[in-house]
Amino acid sequence: MRDLTNDILELIRRTSTDLPPDVEQALGAARQRETQGSAARGALDTILENVTLARRDSSPICQDTGTPIFIVRYPAGWSTRALRAQIREAIAQATKKAYLRPNAVDSLSGKNSGNNLGDDTFPTIHFEEVEGKTLTIDLLLKGGGSENVCAQYSLPHTGLGAGRDLEGVRRVVLDAVHQAQGQGCAPGVLGIAIGGDRGSSYMASKEALLRPLDDVNPDRALADLEARILRETNELGIGPMGFGGKTTVLGVKACGLHRLPASFFVSVSYMCWACRRRRMIADGDAVRYSDRSDP
Ligand code: SF4
Repeated sequence: MRDLTNDILELIRRTSTDLPPDVEQALGAARQRETQGSAARGALDTILENVTLARRDSSPICQDTGTPIFIVRYPAGWSTRALRAQIREAIAQATKKAYLRPNAVDSLSGKNSGNNLGDDTFPTIHFEEVEGKTLTIDLLLKGGGSENVCAQYSLPHTGLGAGRDLEGVRRVVLDAVHQAQGQGCAPGVLGIAIGGDRGSSYMASKEALLRPLDDVNPDRALADLEARILRETNELGIGPMGFGGKTTVLGVKACGLHRLPASFFVSVSYMCWACRRRRMIADGDAVRYSDRSDP
């Protein structure tokens, strides 16, 4: 089995220092929409300048380089134990090279491990065996400020008048964005999971954030829901960094999961403007990287 440590290190460097083009374009389009001289436009100017400098200098886009979340799809024959060790080694090297800030803190002692390695849950790594011969690794760097404003609802929700249907989903998602205002570094991207249990629902909502902003949900009802929530969240007037303005959300990505008859969870993963995601594809001896993590 091939050692992918250096390739994963490069995946981390690209993810931390180079915003995907679809996100940068969406930020650019948002800037054009905001009024000349407004605080919203000024915030987007600063964000876009920062993105350009980070790419040029190979330095992190944001000082918080986030929780690294890896989703590894591997063909039969690969050892997940060896892959986990390679990912962890790459994380430690990336921290030494300052592509990542040391972010792993022991919750009981408050001690920072200094190399972004904690117990087996830090970094987060999910494995799935797949058909074929291609291994893919998707990486999402999830900022802490945006993670703090994620929300999970159990429907029905009497206070919000949200029942167990897509209208109920719409109501709670708008509430989550309303509650997040001024925090989480808008404009962000919403990953929404409908159903599942509390754990699978949150994970699916994070995986939804890997979808490119310009893709269209193949499920017609979800595509309509995404478009409506995008429109309505941008009518809330929260704006970039909460300064007011026309752009609060850059994209909405939703998915549905099976659930128990007794439960109806809606998980909203909020991703800040620093929507850092990348894919690595290993095919035989060839390794390539993609800005897109299409399902
Ligand atoms: S929420 Fe995102 S943009 Fe804001 S500080 Fe954290 S990583 Fe940076």
